[in-house]
Amino acid sequence: MSRATVCLTFDFDAISLWIGPFGATSPSMISRGEFGAVGARRLLALLDREQIPATFFVTGHTADTYPEIVRDIAEAGHEIGHHGYLHENPIALETRDREREVLLKGLDALDRAAGVRPVGYRSPSWDTSPYTVDLLREHGFRYDSSLMGDDFTPYWCRTGDQIDPDGPYRFGPTVDLVEMPVSWLLDDFPHFEYLVLRPGGLRNPGLSAGSKVEEIWSDEFAYMHRDVPGGVFTLTMHPQVIGRGHRILMLERLIARMRSYEGVSFTTLGAAADAYRHATPRTGA
Ligand SMILES: [Zn+2]
Repeated sequence: MSRATVCLTFDFDAISLWIGPFGATSPSMISRGEFGAVGARRLLALLDREQIPATFFVTGHTADTYPEIVRDIAEAGHEIGHHGYLHENPIALETRDREREVLLKGLDALDRAAGVRPVGYRSPSWDTSPYTVDLLREHGFRYDSSLMGDDFTPYWCRTGDQIDPDGPYRFGPTVDLVEMPVSWLLDDFPHFEYLVLRPGGLRNPGLSAGSKVEEIWSDEFAYMHRDVPGGVFTLTMHPQVIGRGHRILMLERLIARMRSYEGVSFTTLGAAADAYRHATPRTGA
């Protein structure tokens, strides 16, 4: 096992994020998603230069809109994961049937565009419903990457947790699905994306200097390398966000810095999930 594993992951939301959860109809707002296609091309070039295999979580709508880019991602040897169809928050889908419908719609689109059948899932907006874990297992997924119960150590997902406001939280049994945890800290979107939606809606100042984010991400990695041997450093980025010039330069510097540490390997999230699966017997079933 590597002393440290780095997984670069990219959520290729493109236009789906804007017309889906953000409800955009203005061509200007929609064009911010369109920039995701430009960013995706830049990232493919960067990953090729660096010889790094990465993971792209692609919405079905993105696969239908930009099938040639999604094909190029797959042909370059990167992993493609499921990310909803129109970036639907599973909680908002309300029923198990509706959530299953969207899961299948996303699978069909990824198959149509690139002939891939993903084993990894990242929930749009990182929300999961009480049905999500069961549905993922029902459709052959091997890992999820939407939860935040740890930072650098994968763990087994659970079902049937019970919330009791008058007593301890009751953890349900573990199931055969690996969690590759994420955090907002290691996500480019809140750091960088300037966002003001209708009065009273979502608001994010974003527009951080790359140097600030570079400092946070570098120190998170330094801590993991020192204190969590065997840890997995999962960065979540978006082609429409990280694909801007100064942020690409920051990412290149960060890659070089992480490579300067001893025993660091870069893999897809799926490969890291499988490594955890094989090394860690599941308890608490
Ligand atoms: Zn997304």
